[in-house]
Parts: sequence; C-alpha cells; structure tokens
Amino acid sequence: MKLYRDEAVVLRTQKIGEADRVITLLTRTSGRVRAVAKGVRRTTSRFGARLEPCMLADVQLHRGRSLDVVTQVLTLAPYARAVADDYPRYTAAAAMLETAERLTPEEREPATQQFLLLVGGLRALVGPPHAPVRRPPGLVLDAFIVRSMAVAGWGASFDACARCGEPGPHRGFAVAAGGAVCRSCRPPGAAAPAPESLQLLGSLLAGDWDGALASTERDRREASGLAAAYLQWHLERGIRSLPLVDRTPEAPPAPDGRQPDGGHHDGAAHHGAPEVTEPEELAAVAPLLDRLPPQPPPARAAEVVRSAQAAAAGSAP
Ligand SMILES: [Zn+2]
Repeated sequence: MKLYRDEAVVLRTQKIGEADRVITLLTRTSGRVRAVAKGVRRTTSRFGARLEPCMLADVQLHRGRSLDVVTQVLTLAPYARAVADDYPRYTAAAAMLETAERLTPEEREPATQQFLLLVGGLRALVGPPHAPVRRPPGLVLDAFIVRSMAVAGWGASFDACARCGEPGPHRGFAVAAGGAVCRSCRPPGAAAPAPESLQLLGSLLAGDWDGALASTERDRREASGLAAAYLQWHLERGIRSLPLVDRTPEAPPAPDGRQPDGGHHDGAAHHGAPEVTEPEELAAVAPLLDRLPPQPPPARAAEVVRSAQAAAAGSAP
C-alpha cells in the first residue's frame, strides 16, 4: 500500500455505500483508475465538488488492491462548472468522457496521449480563454473522436483510399475498410458522403480549424454521423451519450459579416458559462487539438498524431 499523486480528469462517478462514491479517473501517468472517495456525498465533504465529471484535478491516491482511495484533491481546471450551464457543451463533454473511458479499456494501463487529448478537448470546449472564435461543441467533439480513435490505433483515412492508398478525394466511405475508399476498393454498402464532409473530417483530424470552421451545417451533420459510425463500429457497445449530443446550430453570422460567436455578444445558450482560469503549466500541454501540422498525409495520420503527441508529452514532464 502506498501513496501516489497524478493529474486526472474525472470521467464518471457512482454512488457506493452511505456517503461515498467510486470515481473513475483518467490519469496522466497511470491510465484509467477507479478510486473510492469517502464521504464525498456529505455536505461537509472537503472535495465533493472537486470530483465531479469533467474536473481536472491533481489527486493523491492510496493504492488499493482493486480500488484506490482518494486522499487529496486539488482542482487544476473546473471544466465541470464551465459546461454545466450550457447544454450543447455539456452533452459534448459527456460524450467525450464516455469515449475516453471506452478507448482506455484496461485499468492502470498508461494512456498519456488519451489524457492529453481529453484535456485538450475539454479545454477547446470551454474556451480557450480569450479565443477570438468559439468552436462549436459538435465540431470539438468530432475532432476529439477522430483524434482519440487515431491514438487508439484505429485512425481513419478521409482522403487517400484506406485500402490501396490511392490519393483522394474519393466518394466512398466504409467504416470496416478504415475510411475513404476508391472506386475499385469500395465494398458493397459503402456510404457516399459529400466530398466536403470527408474534407471536414480531415481538417478536424489535422487540427485545421480554419478549414473546419468554413464548413456548412449540412457537412457538419454528415461528418458527425460518419465519425460516430466509425467510433461505434470499433466498440462492442455504442456510446450511450452520443445520440444525446445537442448539435443545434448557433445563430447565423450577423449581416455585417461578424462572427456570431465572437465572444462579445454570445447568444442565450452560452449565458452563464463561466470562463475557466487554468494554471499556466496546463497551457503548455492542453492545446493538443491545435498542435498537429496541417494536412498530414492521410494514410499516416495515426502515426502523425502519435508522434505529435509524444513530442508534446515529452516537453511537459
Ligand atoms: Zn483503393
């Protein structure tokens, strides 16, 4: 039995006993861990609110045989509060947490890249502070899905043919084949999405947000359907929170051409979502959704994601 510290995102909580909870954490160095937080459901608890889903915390844990025990919690970024009052953000965050849990099937198996990607995703969802343009939660979620799939080793191709590598764009998309498929490789029943939808997914995978934000609502809807289908195909059970994601489009751009979400005149949907103050150290590791070089060769996309994240992980001990 021993104590250890780690940074962690709270993925899920479950009631246990009279006043305790089992907290599922995705930690930076120890992978997915489940730990008992004793007495957190009492109003006098020191760290009840710090252990809600989405919270990024510095935790101290006592290693147990099956479940660890939480002994200290220090909030690093209160993402839970930032998403709580905004339904589209909240539902996107819930789907991200569930996806992260499902893509880290083995407890205590280090999953630092998934941890960094999740922090980057939550950060993109709630901010980042002072961002000139707010990213639509649905797009952030889809970027997270295609990236975390790539980290899990199931990177999809959205341009070159996933089977023979023939350069794209191609009109076919088949989840079982690994993404875009050319005319000769195209299996029966392959989808035929609009080229713009595949292009959008490629932009999200590459971190090309200028390209992604130029997409239409129609492309976004189709792209999110493809991303969801790709994710669900690789998992035994579906992601329960995915169909609940609120993808209601935000208001169209103002007639004078300004962005509707320029940060100064947010719609009612964002009212009350507080800005998150983060420790400086976090800024160095979190913006992973931006980190990748634009347009990596699609066939090697997973490799590029991996090496970019390994570099980011290495630069932040
Ligand atoms: Zn082919």
